[in-house]
Amino acid sequence: MKIMVQKYGGTSVAGPDRMRKVLSRVAKGIEEGYKVIVVLSAMAGETNKLLTLAKEFVDGPDPEELDALVATGEKVSIALFTMLAKSQGIKARSLSAWQIPILTTSAYMKARIVSIDDKKLKAMLEEYDLLVVAGFQGVDCNGRVTTLGRGGSDTTGVALAAAVKADVCEIYTDVDGVFTTDPRISSAARKLDRISYDEMLELASLGSKVLQIRSVEFAKKYNVPVRVRSTFTDDPGTLVTQEDRAMMEDLVISGIAYDRDQARVTVHKVPDSPGVAASIFGAIAEKRILVDMIIQNASRDGTTDMTFTVPKADLDQTLAILEGIQPKLGAKSVKFDTNVAKVSVVGVGMRNHSGVAASMFQALCKENINIKLIATSEIKITCLIDEKYVELAVRALHTAFGLDKTQAAAC
Ligand code: ADP
Ligand code: ASP
Ligand code: MG
Repeated sequence: MKIMVQKYGGTSVAGPDRMRKVLSRVAKGIEEGYKVIVVLSAMAGETNKLLTLAKEFVDGPDPEELDALVATGEKVSIALFTMLAKSQGIKARSLSAWQIPILTTSAYMKARIVSIDDKKLKAMLEEYDLLVVAGFQGVDCNGRVTTLGRGGSDTTGVALAAAVKADVCEIYTDVDGVFTTDPRISSAARKLDRISYDEMLELASLGSKVLQIRSVEFAKKYNVPVRVRSTFTDDPGTLVTQEDRAMMEDLVISGIAYDRDQARVTVHKVPDSPGVAASIFGAIAEKRILVDMIIQNASRDGTTDMTFTVPKADLDQTLAILEGIQPKLGAKSVKFDTNVAKVSVVGVGMRNHSGVAASMFQALCKENINIKLIATSEIKITCLIDEKYVELAVRALHTAFGLDKTQAAAC
């Protein structure tokens, strides 16, 4: 049995005409002899609408019920799409996560997939040519609906492809593939033909929402080549796959990412003694909040400042945790700033090149952009800057590292 998994994002299923376009692609796959599993997102804007609706009812809605609510967006998409498919004579059925099941942890709003019943899926594929699966959602061991975090349908798609050992795994979206930076910010962005899992992991973790980071983790772990393509064009898109320097484009920097979703938190004047960092970050980790950049200032009078970033969505909870432990820590105050953004340069080629950080700092300096925090890894450099300069910074770095379309053509 040849199996193809295709995931379509919110803009691709935003109305009947778009769904018909998707269906014609799916039908082509079936004609070519594939059994097709389609994973759908909620129609564009629906998840946001549901989140806003919940907040109109209660402040700080219960996470279990919030997941039950937001998961309905994807159920609407699969039911409507399956109706269309059946009306055209395709043997199809829709599947919510609990019907497979896609078993997840109980971390509501950011659940992780634990297992997928691949045997049941394959048995269903004997009977049907098309299975239409709700993205983004799962079910925990107590039978409660969970969701996988924003953009989670990508992860459903890749995880299903890994589970059934699909021959083809495609993620359809509203741009032609993975670009050197967000094509909506820089018209000079260039589409990449291939990108390694590691580079894509960095780009995704640094804010390039074209793929959810967990989907790339799955792809890498189970070695699933993923093709990112547009629903609206015939461009072959970008292949996300294992690193193969001979095949990859020979670039030191493969992309520029940005993330406006971070907030900076500073704990002022904590005692500079063993165990302080463990107390702060241990308490935050217990609530499964992802701390990103961390910097500890030099010690003055036996005290220091601890600065770090967390997702904006987790800021209130982080401040509440810090308020709780502040007396025990002996910290003077806690301050935060939400008008910040991260810009990052990413590339496996950086491993063998010196001076990337210096070039990045020079490019930002040339635009008079102040750097608030810096973090580095083997294949990325990230700077935290004022949010209002993020687009300027992305464009300046894209040019400085020779990624602009016209520059690349001249090389
Ligand atoms: P979908 O609803 O199809 O899942 P998303 O909005 O989640 O689509 O992701 C696609 C968007 O990701 C694009 O419209 C683009 O603005 C953004 N994006 C950010 N960085 C990149 C990048 N490096 N390459 C391509 N798209 C990117
Ligand atoms: N509908 C969800 C979201 O908007 C999941 C997804 O689109 O991948 O985040
Ligand atoms: Mg998405």
